[in-house]
Amino acid sequence: MVEKRDDRVYRDRRQEMVEQLRRYGINNSRVLEAFLAVERHLFFDPESRDYAYDDCAFPIGCGQTISQPFTVAYMTSMLVERCPAGKILEVGTGSGYQAAILDYMGYSVYTIERIPELLKRSSEVFSVLGLKIHQRLGDGTLGWSDHAPYKGIIVTAGAPEPPSSLLEQLADNGVMIIPIGGSVGQRMTVVTRSGGRLERESFHAFAFVPLIGREGWGE
Ligand code: SAM
Repeated sequence: MVEKRDDRVYRDRRQEMVEQLRRYGINNSRVLEAFLAVERHLFFDPESRDYAYDDCAFPIGCGQTISQPFTVAYMTSMLVERCPAGKILEVGTGSGYQAAILDYMGYSVYTIERIPELLKRSSEVFSVLGLKIHQRLGDGTLGWSDHAPYKGIIVTAGAPEPPSSLLEQLADNGVMIIPIGGSVGQRMTVVTRSGGRLERESFHAFAFVPLIGREGWGE
């Protein structure tokens, strides 16, 4: 089959994005492979696709953003190093890109979004790509108890504290990756459950949109 010009251009841009991620210290081969394969531009409106491979966050409507590629790669690396396989809950579907990366890496992905418009758009992209990602509309701070426990929980919005409902839905030896802090900036935080004990470690600083919900920030 002859490759279309746009596909070739976007593939070259994905390759450049992956090289840049490597320079920034992302070195997990499964993560880099997923970034090379998943067509990030499909998670953008057609008129914004030229920006899809720039290393910055980008508005996706409804006051929300698709996270910067480095941020997605950083969180995904933290997850894969501690939890290489299994069932993952993502809180904050947004564009759907993070969920698609996890799906490509072989995880079984459950994702929750609180804004109906974003849920609808991401489900359309998943269906175009033929991805079997489980989606739900709702307050993700309360988790998705029907499918718990999860080996990994990845929260892609900034929270004041790890929501206790999510901690309850974490499997033994499971790991939660969550930005914790105030409205201006947060520290990427890893919470690990082992037996009855929860351990918490903080890493680099980021700036996420707020996690809004019963166990997050108010409206
Ligand atoms: N993971 C997304 C992606 O790949 O495009 C980026 C997420 S964006 C930075 C944060 C998302 O979290 C927004 O879409 C926002 O509506 C959503 N969000 C905030 N609070 C939420 C909650 N309590 N439950 C579910 N989604 C929430």
